[in-house]
Amino acid sequence: MPVLYPRYARHLSLQNFGEAAQSRLAHSGALIVGLGGLGSAAAVYLAAAGIGRLVLADFDRVDETNLQRQILYRMKDVGRRKTQAASAALRALNPTLEVEELDGRLADAKLASAISQCDIVIDGSDNFATRAAVNQACLARRRPLVSGAALRWEGRLAVFDLREDDSPCLACLHPDMSESLETCERGGVLGPLVGVIGSLQAVEALKLLTGTGTPMSGRLLRYTAHSGRFSEFSIGRRVDCPACRDRSAAG
Ligand SMILES: [Zn+2]
Repeated sequence: MPVLYPRYARHLSLQNFGEAAQSRLAHSGALIVGLGGLGSAAAVYLAAAGIGRLVLADFDRVDETNLQRQILYRMKDVGRRKTQAASAALRALNPTLEVEELDGRLADAKLASAISQCDIVIDGSDNFATRAAVNQACLARRRPLVSGAALRWEGRLAVFDLREDDSPCLACLHPDMSESLETCERGGVLGPLVGVIGSLQAVEALKLLTGTGTPMSGRLLRYTAHSGRFSEFSIGRRVDCPACRDRSAAG
């Protein structure tokens, strides 16, 4: 158990958080899928906040074009594996953090094993194939999924608490995940927008891990940075959803 004072003093004096939540956080682990702009912001905030363990998954290396928004990396990291550079940055920020690096593509077995060792999954990946696989693995292991996306001027956040039988899943929201997702490489993305969404992912993860506040389960938040507007929609569970209709059999 890490020493809580003085490092987490502002959490310990925070109403409805305090020592109990901070201790729960210290004994929690999150899998972060994709160490781009969303994963960077989420990982930095979770590490700083005192999460016990992070499993970092990415197959890529740091490119100079990433530095406009992926705040985990510095110029010296260009060319390094993202998992390696991220792990070093996060350990420097919080030496009590346990970090595991998962390099390469997340094959099914690797994904299932990573998820079973974590309490929650934060998805900031940039393609539907990974998102669909992560959703399926979270359903099978009943792990909450905090899903984020950002492209051009628009960001989205959706939370699926798959510990609950009646929670919708990502495939209820996106029934057809076979199409390819447009990437930031073609459409561009505003730098701080990914920080907004990644930070919201960290907030939701903190609440789900510590049992504080009201998580945004079954809600989709859209942030249009260009006009500065937030809008929210509820996500219904689809009875014909191919991913979760046989939920009781999935686990
Ligand atoms: Zn579903």
